[in-house]
Amino acid sequence: MNYNKKTVKDIDVAGKKVLLRCDFNVPMAKDGSGVITDDKRIRAALPTIQYLLDQNAAVIACSHMGKPKGEVVPSLSLKPVAARLSELLGKDVIMAEDVVGPDAQAKAAALKPGQIMLLENTRFEKGETKNDPELAKAMASMAEVYVSDAFGAVHRAHASTAGVADYLPAVSGFLIQKELEIIGGALANPKRPLVAILGGSKVSSKIGVINNLLEIADTIIIGGGMTYTFLKAQGGSIGKSLLEEDWLDYCNDMMKKAQEKGVKLLLPEDTVCAKEFAADAEPMTVDSMHIPDDCLGMDIGPKAIAAYSEAVKDAGTVIWNGPMGVFEFPAFAAGTKAVAEALSESHAITIIGGGDSAAAVQQLGYADKMTHISTGGGASLEFMEGKELPGVACLLDA
Ligand code: ADP
Ligand code: MG
Repeated sequence: MNYNKKTVKDIDVAGKKVLLRCDFNVPMAKDGSGVITDDKRIRAALPTIQYLLDQNAAVIACSHMGKPKGEVVPSLSLKPVAARLSELLGKDVIMAEDVVGPDAQAKAAALKPGQIMLLENTRFEKGETKNDPELAKAMASMAEVYVSDAFGAVHRAHASTAGVADYLPAVSGFLIQKELEIIGGALANPKRPLVAILGGSKVSSKIGVINNLLEIADTIIIGGGMTYTFLKAQGGSIGKSLLEEDWLDYCNDMMKKAQEKGVKLLLPEDTVCAKEFAADAEPMTVDSMHIPDDCLGMDIGPKAIAAYSEAVKDAGTVIWNGPMGVFEFPAFAAGTKAVAEALSESHAITIIGGGDSAAAVQQLGYADKMTHISTGGGASLEFMEGKELPGVACLLDA
C-alpha cells in the first residue's frame, strides 16, 4: 500500500466547502445524560479543523458514534459532541438534524467560509456501513473537497470513510498524515534494528501482525497471554494459563521461520503466575517452562523484564502491540510497566498500537514519552498486519 498521500496542505480549500470525516466516537456516560466521559478524540481533531477554518474553508464535519445500525437512536446523537467541539473551538458549531436529509442539505448550502457544522451520526443512515454509493454521493454533493482525519475508522470501507472519495478530491488531515508517516515509515523503511513487542491476550487475534512483522523485524519479543501457547508448543508445562490448542503448530512454525530468517524471537524466561485470575491473587515467580499445574501465567517475570529491556535499549525502532501481562491488576502490571519504562528511556522511535496497549501506556504514565501512540485500535492493528486500509487507499497519492 502507498502511504504517501496528499494532505490538506496540498489542496486549495480557501472559500470551499469541505466534508471532514472525524472520529468523534467518544465514550458517553452510561446513564444517557449525554455527558462525554473522555473528549480526547474531539481534541485530537482540533488541529485539522482549526487549519481548515483558518484557511477560510466552510467545514462540514461528520462522524459515526456507536452502533445504531441504520436507525436514529437518540442516545447516539452527535449533539453532545457539537456542544463540546463548540466549547473547545470557542465558536458556534451548527448541528444538523440528519446526515443527508433536508436539514443537513439546507444548513450545508447556507454554510459560509470560516463556519463549521456537524452532520448527525453517519450510522443513522443504513447505507453507511454498506458503503452505499447513493449515500456517499449525497454526502459528497454538499461539499467540494473531502478531508479524512478519522484514523480510527480507516480500516472500514464505509460511505463516509471511503465511498465519498469516488465523488470528491480526497486528502488526509493531520492525524492520518502522522499515522501514515510514523507507522507507515516504520513498516516500509524502519530505522534498524526494528524490535516488535507483541503481547495481549490471544495468539489468534495477532496472527496477521506476527506474520507481517516477522518479515520486517530484527527482533520479536513475545509477552502477554499469547506467550503460553508458544511455551506449550516448545514442550513447556503451562498449568491453567491461557492456551489456544489450535495454534500450537503455528507457534512452532513461527519459531522455525524466525530462526531461518535470522530474526531473534524472545520468550520470557520466567513468569509471574497465580492460583486464580484475580486482582488479589498471590503473585509467584516461576520458570516459564515449569508453571505449576494449579497456576496460570499473569505477567512476565524479572529475568524476562531484564532481557526485554536490554533488547530495546539499542533499537532504532520499537513497535509495541499488546500488554505483557494482566496490567489491569496492579500486582501483575510490572512487566508492562517495565517495558514502557525501557521504551521511554531508549532513543528509538517508539510506536504503540492497539487499544489496550495505548490505555496501558497512558494509565502507567508513559504516554508523553513515546514517539507515537496510534489513535486507532483496530485500524492500527490492520495497518501493522500490512493490510490495505480502504480509508487511506481512497486518498489521492502525493
Ligand atoms: P491491544 O488492544 O493492545 O491490541 P489485546 O486486546 O490483544 O491488546 O490484549 C489486551 C489484554 O490482554 C488485556 O486486557 C490484558 O489483561 C490481557 N492479557 C495480558 N496478559 C495476559 C495473561 N497472561 N493472561 C490473560 N490475559 C492477559
Ligand atoms: Mg484490545
